[in-house]
Amino acid sequence: MRLRNIPRAEGVLEAHDKVIKNEKEHKGQWKAVFGNEHPVYIEIGMGKGQFLTEMAARHPERNYIGIERYSSVLLRAVERLDKLEEEKKSEQEGGARLLENIRFICMDAAEIGEVFEKGEVKGIYLNFSDPWPKKRHARRRLTSKEFFARYDQVLAPEGQVEFKTDNQDLFQFSLEQADEAGWRVLMSTWDLHADPAMNQGNVMTEYEKKFSAKGNPICKMIAGR
Ligand code: SAM
Repeated sequence: MRLRNIPRAEGVLEAHDKVIKNEKEHKGQWKAVFGNEHPVYIEIGMGKGQFLTEMAARHPERNYIGIERYSSVLLRAVERLDKLEEEKKSEQEGGARLLENIRFICMDAAEIGEVFEKGEVKGIYLNFSDPWPKKRHARRRLTSKEFFARYDQVLAPEGQVEFKTDNQDLFQFSLEQADEAGWRVLMSTWDLHADPAMNQGNVMTEYEKKFSAKGNPICKMIAGR
């Protein structure tokens, strides 16, 4: 997903309290950012943030950080969250914040090792990651073995990577790369919505809704070490 450049995006993100600035300064200190001891989960390539906000609402006992490379895309996620909070506030006396357990970072995920300490991340979500179809760009895929090595640098020992896509070539590649990187595929399905066990509690992403409405089966794998 790449929206046209939106000139006001940088300013809005800079001023927004849920958008983390100077993220590398928080390495090893993410619990202090949230002010609690709850585990931290990240979604890489969160797009407009539907999945992340729903997960944060369902799991107040967890902290969630959405990572998105493009400011124009992150702007949409932040505006969506603000709208949700406004709606919630107008329903409530006292105006409590809707989601205290969510933050955003605008960055390239290739740098996560500089942002999180080893073991600081409890889980990583990759949803409908860009396929980078040309072979020479394979290292840019978020499920390449190069990226699995980066996840190794930040993930807790029992932590897992969860990946969903409708792109079957990318899914096959991802299963193979997890194996090559020395990870174990703990669960996988080529048709998530027809798999009651794996689909239980599934939170649909924006792309998942779009592609499953077209009839594309959704693939999912969960990998650990
Ligand atoms: N996850 C959302 C969903 O399922 O609806 C959006 C999917 S969209 C196809 C992929 C998103 O990942 C895009 O917004 C893109 O900018 C972002 N992205 C791709 N590579 C990235 C990287 N290396 N670091 C951060 N974000 C990335």
